[in-house]
This record gives sequence, C-alpha cells and structure tokens, in this order.
Amino acid sequence: MSFDAIILGAGPAGSTAAIVLARRGFQVALVEKAEFPRRKVCGEFVSATSLAVIDRLGLGSTWRSLAGPEVRRVALFSGERVVTARMPAAHGAGFGRALGRDVLDDLLVQEASRAGATLFQPFRATGVRPSGDESAVTIASRDEEATLSAPVVIAAHGSWEPGGLPSQLQKTNAPSDLLGFKAHFSGARLEPDLMPLLVFPGGYGGMVWADRGRLSLSLCIRRDALAALRKEAGGGSASDAVHRHLLASCRGVRAAIGEAQLQGQWLAAGPIRPGMRARYRDDVFRIGNVAGESHPVIAEGISMAMQSAWHLAEELEAIDPARRAERDAAGRRYSRRWRAQFGARILAASAIAGLALRPAGARLMGGAIEALPALLTLGARLSGKTKTIAEMSNERVGVGRMRLS
Ligand SMILES: Cc1cc2nc3c(=O)[nH]c(=O)nc-3n(C[C@H](O)[C@H](O)[C@H](O)COP(=O)(O)OP(=O)(O)OC[C@H]3O[C@@H](n4cnc5c(N)ncnc54)[C@H](O)[C@@H]3O)c2cc1C
Repeated sequence: MSFDAIILGAGPAGSTAAIVLARRGFQVALVEKAEFPRRKVCGEFVSATSLAVIDRLGLGSTWRSLAGPEVRRVALFSGERVVTARMPAAHGAGFGRALGRDVLDDLLVQEASRAGATLFQPFRATGVRPSGDESAVTIASRDEEATLSAPVVIAAHGSWEPGGLPSQLQKTNAPSDLLGFKAHFSGARLEPDLMPLLVFPGGYGGMVWADRGRLSLSLCIRRDALAALRKEAGGGSASDAVHRHLLASCRGVRAAIGEAQLQGQWLAAGPIRPGMRARYRDDVFRIGNVAGESHPVIAEGISMAMQSAWHLAEELEAIDPARRAERDAAGRRYSRRWRAQFGARILAASAIAGLALRPAGARLMGGAIEALPALLTLGARLSGKTKTIAEMSNERVGVGRMRLS
C-alpha cells in the first residue's frame, strides 16, 4: 500500500502530524499499536502555549468543554513545605489545563481519521527500510501483516519502549533510572487552580485536576529508591510502595489524596529518557519524545509533541516530498526549529530535576522557593510555559505565523 507519509505512533505527536498533513492533501497512514481509549503514564497537563495548535486542529471547543480547570498557580509541596506562586500566562492564550490521555489521544486520533488519514490500529510498526526512493514500513497486528511504502516516514512512537525500529532506544537498567508512575483519584482535595510540584526523597511529581473530577497524580522515582522502599516494606507492589512513600513524605499530598479514592490502577512506565536526540536521520523524521524529551518535572511533553509535529508539518508542506534532497533540506530546517523552540526548556528541566533528585539540592530549592516564591513563576517561564509557536516563528526562525486555518 502506497502513501505520501507513514506515521508510526498515534500519541499527541503522531496524531497532530497526521491531522495537519492529511488536511494539506497528503495521503497519510497512521499506525498505532494500542487500542484506544487507553490511559497512559502522564500528568496530562497541556500548556497554554499549545492551545493555538489545538484550536487550529479544530478541537479547541471540545478540549475546553472537557478539560479540568485553568491552572493559574503553581506550588511546591515538599516535606512539610507548601509554597504557592502565580503561573505566568502565555501571550494571548491564557492558562493551561489538564485532560486525561484516554480522552485527549482518542480525540486526536479520531480527528486524524476524519481528516482523511488511514488508521492502522491496533498495528505495531516492526521495521523501516529504504526501498528505492521511498521507505518500506512493515506493520503487524495479532493476525495480519502488511508492508506500507511512502517517501516520508515520521517516527512518533514515544521513547519508553525498546524495539526493532531504528528510531527506538535501547532499554537501560541503572540504579539512577527514573521510573514513571501515574494514578487518578476521585474525591481529592486540592484548590482547583493549583498545580503543585511534588518533591520527595528519591523523586519528584505533580498533581492537577483533569476532566470529570479526576485528580491526575504522576511522578518519577529513581529505581534504587523504589527498590529500597519495597525492601523496607518487606515486599508488596511497586505502586503500593510509591503511594505510601508519597503520603508519608509530603504534607501537601496527604491533604490532597489522604481521603481520596484511587480510580483504576496505578500505571507504571520507563525508564524515562530525558535529553535531545536526532530529529531527522536516515530519511526518517522524528517528533515528540522520539526527537527529545524534557524531564516531566516541567510537564511540557505533550506540548513538545504537538508543537514538534506542527513544525515538521510546516516544513513538509513546503517541499516536494518525493525528492530525497528536499526531504533532507526539510529535515535540517526542522531540526534547527526544534532546537530553537525546545532546547532551552530541556536544559531548564534537567537543572530543576537535578536539584529535586538530590537531598541537598531539594533542601536548597525548597529553602530558596520559600524565601522567594516568585522563583516558581520564573521556573514555569524558563520551562516554556509562555513560549508559543507563533512567537517563536517570528522571533528567531524568520518564518511566518502558523498557516493553517
Ligand atoms: C510521570 C510523567 C508525567 C508527565 N506529565 C506530563 C504532563 O503533565 N504534561 C505534559 O505535557 N507531559 C507530561 N509528560 C510527558 C508526556 O507524557 C510525553 O512527553 C508525551 O506523551 C509524548 O508524546 P508522544 O506523542 O511523543 O509519545 P507517546 O505519547 O508515548 O505516544 C506514542 C504512541 O506510539 C505508540 N507506539 C509505540 N510503539 C509503537 C510501534 N512500534 N508501532 C505503532 N505504535 C507504537 C504508543 O502506543 C503510543 O500511543 C509526563 C511524563 C511522565 C513520565
């Protein structure tokens, strides 16, 4: 089966790219291994800087009608410490909100299908190889295999699972690995406009109200810290150990979920792989977490996924995708735009996470924020909470504002 573009993975990155390219007349194949709706390890907060993209995808009013309340304040909950500060507003876009990934990812994939993308779901992409001037992608479901071909291949499969694709990362197993956990709670108590950063021994996390009265709690914890907690408890599940540890070590978490009910199961994923990676290599474009990932401490991954897809789609619209030289040039331009848009926040996230994960750093950070709560606002600004795509395009890259309407 022949297409203009094959997209591997239908998370926020893959589905955004599929919607934009399909609307621009590309014949798009979107390959997703999981059945939707499905929950996912994620804090589910979407920065205001992505609202322009969500609006232009045609999902703005649905998103606004479903998402949790506007997050107008940030906080630090660490030990006995509870400090709040204002969230900086993004120019003209207001404030971010959270929507469950079971809902958001399903909305996006359905829109991709409405836009004309051909959906292969549940199908896993198992291989990518050059085939003449194009690439051939092998995909497999439980009882079917197929080969798709296209000049443009976009890897959007996230970064937490190993596999045989050239863009997949290998699994690591080190004591310092960060493992991700996530749970929803009902009946929680947290001020509606507040998104606290949680800092606790061995990790960090966050809480925010999402859709349907669900509180979304997500965190990262070092592998060795988790092992020690489980040993101390004499066994039991990792999620029980994490849950107990949070309640024992953080007053703000106790106040918020001490009496709340867990909805469904805790989810776990990882190790997570923060850092910058190739954005284009061997004729495969990479978006979302595949291209690079910030520490979840800044809650920017969904925005980076959608915005990187947007940047790439703008570059692909402007070329003849059948010509390899034009794809290479688009790959270089996209790569520069990606770095200009996201590089600083990846570094800022790494610095914040580095402090949060070390006992002395966490003490230093807590003391400084208590003395000067505006540091929380500054941290949100440094982590990209006010940096929209349009602003970026005009500021440094010299290209026009977003073109789709
Ligand atoms: C603890 C934690 C909290 C976080 N909190 C936030 C937050 O509050 N806000 C925020 O913006 N970000 C947050 N993030 C980051 C965010 O979850 C990711 O950055 C985001 O999901 C990346 O989107 P993506 O589309 O690149 O990849 P993904 O969302 O991982 O989507 C990839 C898709 O590809 C599919 N796939 C994988 N392999 C294949 C294959 N071989 N074939 C076909 N399909 C495949 C998967 O099933 C999946 O649907 C958090 C992360 C963690 C770990």
